[in-house]
Amino acid sequence: MLKDKIAVVTGASRGIGREIAKTLAAKGAVVIVNYNGSAAKAEEVVKEITEAGGRAEGVQCNVSDFQAAGELMDYVVRQYGRLDILVNNAGITRDNLLMKMSEEDFDAVINTNLKGAFNCIKNISRQMLKQKGGRIINISSVSGVMGNAGQANYSASKAGVIGLTKAVARELATRGVTCNAVAPGFIETEMTEVLSDSVKEAVTGQIPMKKFGQTSDVANLAAFLASDEAGYITGQVICVDGGMAC
Ligand code: NAP
Repeated sequence: MLKDKIAVVTGASRGIGREIAKTLAAKGAVVIVNYNGSAAKAEEVVKEITEAGGRAEGVQCNVSDFQAAGELMDYVVRQYGRLDILVNNAGITRDNLLMKMSEEDFDAVINTNLKGAFNCIKNISRQMLKQKGGRIINISSVSGVMGNAGQANYSASKAGVIGLTKAVARELATRGVTCNAVAPGFIETEMTEVLSDSVKEAVTGQIPMKKFGQTSDVANLAAFLASDEAGYITGQVICVDGGMAC
């Protein structure tokens, strides 16, 4: 149970983040549903949570902007007095083969996926240390573990998230703050919906379980890592991938 815990889920308007927000709220957490552009979708998530008897609030913030991430964290601490759970889920893809990849597409993916996580962690770590407790859960990817052709920017950002996770885990461990990474394989969301049927078929062939995962597969692990029961687990990368990276 996460009764009365205060949680921020970045990129919670859609896909995996949306499911994590709903799962944490169903377990009793007060959830800040962060989004960048999809205000209406974020409001839908808030409505679904509140109609189910939970507590949630939508807050816009582009996490790739260091100052904006600081303002988000300051707002949460001002409004709720603390932050117990930070889920760095916001992410984008700008896929292309290395030979065709533009500098802009490399920077955009690093700035959102890796720097976005840094921006949020950096701006809340002092508060979590003061609280002598906190849970940081970073959403990485199997692409960061194994690499993936056509995703040099994305794979680098997600491998970076793993390094960030391990360093932060070591720095904050003595004060009861844990930091872990979840590395999903291919999960059915808008991010993977855009893949062509032939790519989907080829990918499925590489998954030992021969199917894409569901957002709930990732959300259930995030909820466990956010719980008191996971208090002695830190610095880990846990794949939710049907056996793909094993
Ligand atoms: P998605 O459906 O495309 O949703 C992405 C979410 O991130 C949206 O809520 C979006 O908000 C938000 N976002 C993007 N840029 C942002 C920014 N600068 N600031 C704040 N929010 C931002 O993606 P998904 O498939 O659920 O993926 C979620 C996470 O899991 C990502 O980190 C992704 O890399 C990772 N992942 C996904 C898969 C998969 O198979 N789907 C596999 C491995 C890892 P707006 O709608 O407001 O823009």
